[in-house]
Amino acid sequence: MALLAIKNLSFQAGAAKIIDDLSLSMDQAEVHALLGTNGTGKSTLAYLIMGCEGYWPTAGTILFAGQAIQTRRIHERAQLGITMAWQEPVRFEGISVAQYLTLTNRHLDPAPYLAMVGLQPGRYLARMVDKCLSGGERKRIELASILALHPRLAIFDEPDSGIDMLSIHDIINVINACKTSGCAVLLITHREEIALIADRASQICRGRIVCSGSPQQVAAYYKSRECLACATEVCADERP
Ligand code: ADP
Ligand code: MG
Repeated sequence: MALLAIKNLSFQAGAAKIIDDLSLSMDQAEVHALLGTNGTGKSTLAYLIMGCEGYWPTAGTILFAGQAIQTRRIHERAQLGITMAWQEPVRFEGISVAQYLTLTNRHLDPAPYLAMVGLQPGRYLARMVDKCLSGGERKRIELASILALHPRLAIFDEPDSGIDMLSIHDIINVINACKTSGCAVLLITHREEIALIADRASQICRGRIVCSGSPQQVAAYYKSRECLACATEVCADERP
């Protein structure tokens, strides 16, 4: 059984159809890259899977481990094991890094999770999560908090964006740590070199999946044409 099975999902905001009859499935511990240029609906799809306020599908279903979740609230989906790293790192104020990483499990040792994202635990655990941290440090701490949650599905919305970009090497480390712990990753990106680290990939264009297959196939398709041209075309290897 697929861990995540999105079937014929649509989302409309006003007159605009932002997600249009989209189907996508992911297995447990699969890293699936979602490639698409700006404005094609990548973040919207992430919000629909996570259940963010105001993002209720106009049609279709989202099955997670066999359960329909498209009408569940965000905290219920979090309890089922779905989590998300936002495109912009969230700013928390007034708690230490150690407290932040142990919010959901105060018995957890946070040190290994900081090490996994390239931060020395001894230098960061007692620091406050505040404006004194750089954008890159905040992003790493947020990724460490995701690893510490041991989710079943982590959605990374453009993990390389932000004030201090993380290197591809950093992103690979975090994704591999997720995969090793059995967590599936939806890796949203507009960069084909990041998509290449996934097990499978799909390209989204105007809210529809236009190509699915190996990351190499999908990256080649993505590079070969402009997104606007492909709304009515599908690549030969599409597996909806
Ligand atoms: P991406 O992440 O691929 O860059 P988004 O999912 O953020 O794209 O947005 C896709 C399109 O949908 C954009 O044109 C955006 O302005 C529009 N959009 C997203 N959410 C809403 C909303 N709640 N209301 C109106 N338009 C929206
Ligand atoms: Mg986006």
